[in-house]
Amino acid sequence: MKGKTFLPYLMFGGVVLGIFCGWVFGKKMDSVDWIGEIFLNVLKMLVIPLIVSSMIVGISGLGDIRKAGKTGLITLVYFLSTTAIAVAVGLVMVNLMQPGAGVELNTPVPEKLSGKGDVGITDILKSFFSPNLIHSMAQMEILPIIVFSLLFGGVLTTLGDKGKPVIAFFDGVNEAIMKMVHLVMYLAPVGVFALISSKLGAAGGGDLFLAQLLKIGKYSLTVIFALLVHGVLVLPLILWGITRRNPLDYFKNTSEALTTAFSTASSSATLPVTIECAEEYNGVSRKASLFVLPIGATVNMDGTALYESVAALFIAQMVGADLGMGQQMIVFLTATLAAIGAAGIPEAGLVTLVMVLNAVGLPLEGIGMLLAIDWFLDRCRTTVNVWGDSVGAAVVDFLEVKLVEHGGEP
Ligand code: ASP
Repeated sequence: MKGKTFLPYLMFGGVVLGIFCGWVFGKKMDSVDWIGEIFLNVLKMLVIPLIVSSMIVGISGLGDIRKAGKTGLITLVYFLSTTAIAVAVGLVMVNLMQPGAGVELNTPVPEKLSGKGDVGITDILKSFFSPNLIHSMAQMEILPIIVFSLLFGGVLTTLGDKGKPVIAFFDGVNEAIMKMVHLVMYLAPVGVFALISSKLGAAGGGDLFLAQLLKIGKYSLTVIFALLVHGVLVLPLILWGITRRNPLDYFKNTSEALTTAFSTASSSATLPVTIECAEEYNGVSRKASLFVLPIGATVNMDGTALYESVAALFIAQMVGADLGMGQQMIVFLTATLAAIGAAGIPEAGLVTLVMVLNAVGLPLEGIGMLLAIDWFLDRCRTTVNVWGDSVGAAVVDFLEVKLVEHGGEP
């Protein structure tokens, strides 16, 4: 485990200064947009080699296929149960706060969503596989790369001596990439400043942002409040309840990843930092963080799931559709699936929201109401997504040692 540095404080300072400058100077902050873009691209540049090597090293570190299977199961149960809890938190809050009551729906279907009306469960299943991995890498479609690397790493462990040098090669690749991540992080305080100030500036600065926020203020408040309940209460309780780790320390040590998530709005781009925080600062075992975090960044999205349930019910309340228990159960299930299907990129959740709305027959026009402010709420939910993954790494690490390695014996 590495000692603490000033970096998290500098990054937090970058976020605060970014908000201040974007708020006050508005569109003028366009001039630093390129700095943010460079930071984002440098992070993205590391993602594909990091995922491939992490999955191969992670799966081979877990041991034989039975042990790996058990750890996989623990991971799956953690992902599904925390996502389901997040959706439930969202549903409770939106029912209590009724943000859509009295709001008039007066927007067309957003352009980027037209033609997406038939996103369904089979589309999510299809996205696990790709006929052309190079194409998927170029498009940053992570799921097929994870599937391939897991299979490849799993098979390598069965090859005996022939597999060992290949695993050792990817182990070296992984270590080198992580060293690069470490270097890139020196850019981070300036990078997050540039990303946030230019985005807030492009949105019109503080006054326009506030006006947009207030237009659907009760909705934004419901989303933020529900995210806080999940991020500040539920996840820390799970972390403490299972691992007995101090949630505050764990949170502090994850802050570099959380500020990066807030600035980039992308779990995938944040992945290098998330792994660095879990492994280097929180002392999560390498095999657990390399196995859990890349999958988590792609499929485990508590914030997105919560957001989708609030958004769907908000739209239902706006159009006066009274969704009963059965319908809300459908929202519950589809929001969970939609979050799994959403890519770890900015505003992906809006696209998979179509699936939830279709399932209960709500109008896609409703999404138009959410567009103006989505860039901001996206950052909030991405932060919770990354926090959920980070907590998951500690939980799986703990349970893997307890249940798989020691077979339940202390
Ligand atoms: N931007 C989110 C993420 O990368 C996904 C979403 O909810 O749009 O985690």
